[in-house]
Amino acid sequence: MPRALRTLGRLVKYSVGIGGGLFLGDILINDEFDSSVTNRFRQRISAEQRAMEPRPRVLILGAGWGGLSMVRKLHTDKFDVTLVNPKNYFLFTPLLASTTTGRTSKSSIIEPVRHFCKRADAEDVRFIESEAVSVNLESQTVTCRDISDMHTSNDSFDVPYDYLVIGVGAEPATFGTPGVKEHAVFLKQIEHSRVIRSRILDALETACIPGQSDAEIERLLSFVVVGGGPTGVEYAGELADFLKRDAKRAYPPDIASRCSIRIVEGLPHVLARFEPQTIEYAEKQLKKENVILECDQFVKRVEAGKLTLSHRVTKESSTVPFGVLVWVTGIAAQPLVKDLIAAIGKSTPANAPLQEHTV
Ligand SMILES: Cc1cc2nc3c(=O)[nH]c(=O)nc-3n(C[C@H](O)[C@H](O)[C@H](O)COP(=O)(O)OP(=O)(O)OC[C@H]3O[C@@H](n4cnc5c(N)ncnc54)[C@H](O)[C@@H]3O)c2cc1C
Repeated sequence: MPRALRTLGRLVKYSVGIGGGLFLGDILINDEFDSSVTNRFRQRISAEQRAMEPRPRVLILGAGWGGLSMVRKLHTDKFDVTLVNPKNYFLFTPLLASTTTGRTSKSSIIEPVRHFCKRADAEDVRFIESEAVSVNLESQTVTCRDISDMHTSNDSFDVPYDYLVIGVGAEPATFGTPGVKEHAVFLKQIEHSRVIRSRILDALETACIPGQSDAEIERLLSFVVVGGGPTGVEYAGELADFLKRDAKRAYPPDIASRCSIRIVEGLPHVLARFEPQTIEYAEKQLKKENVILECDQFVKRVEAGKLTLSHRVTKESSTVPFGVLVWVTGIAAQPLVKDLIAAIGKSTPANAPLQEHTV
């Protein structure tokens, strides 16, 4: 066989091997193995067959990671699937922190929910942009509310279900700390990212206004993160990068050099639930970026431009001025979930009624 043909043969062999490996790796890593297999063997059910045997109605609340995984895996010729979510997009949270400084564009981390609802090989999923307000277990309906600005006489309506899937996620935890909701920004939604970005820029610009006092400049340029978990650490890193590089180039030297970043954490270390090596590495990197770590400090209250802290051990009180405060101390259950737990009773092992009504 001519040499050129042999080389071509080898090239094809290697390409098929590498391509196949990448394909398999991708479906395994991205948890798509079962979807790929079920899609392949999924059989269409004709409209006549479906008319003879009505499809059970599955109602999925929430188009986040959990809700959309469910949407993608259900065979919609067998189930009549409805998805309810207050926004018509899915948010890729792992990159949210980097959108606060503009390093990643906001539009690149959202994906229209309706893309996930279209099916080439089966019935589409019905999408309703609204917020689920309450679950009525007796009538098997969920009361939903249209929270858009398009007010109509149909702002509140009921959606029936045979099976209910609740994937509404969680809301930021404040532990009842006074002033958090009024003066801090959470980092959970795309809107939060927009607010944080605009506050960072406003703080820098306001610090540049002629006649600004030293104390006010120090306060404005004090960027505080409450919560030393993965989100807080990631955000602080992004901010340090932004201030050190972009802000340093754009703003006068006496402004950029006076910026400070501080992480306030109630436990002795940031990333407290991680391996000691990870904690050590993260703290070393943060200190290298001049991020101040205020560990063992609990926030007692938040006022306009000022935090009051209490030391976990000594109980000593101190205050920290801030220009921008980001609150990322973890999550708490949504009101809808709390109400449902109250109606049904606590979770396992007494969750039998929940299992009867939900999948
Ligand atoms: C900044 C940030 C970074 C993160 N990075 C990572 C990471 O790198 N790796 C990782 O594993 N995890 C990460 N997480 C955590 C991850 O995002 C969550 O674990 C995950 O989103 C939980 O999925 P979920 O489906 O339960 O809820 P979500 O993904 O929060 O989805 C809930 C959905 O329900 C909707 N909803 C809320 N209320 C209602 C209602 N009443 N009716 C109808 N719909 C409602 C919401 O709008 C949302 O679309 C990060 C989180 C944040 C905030």
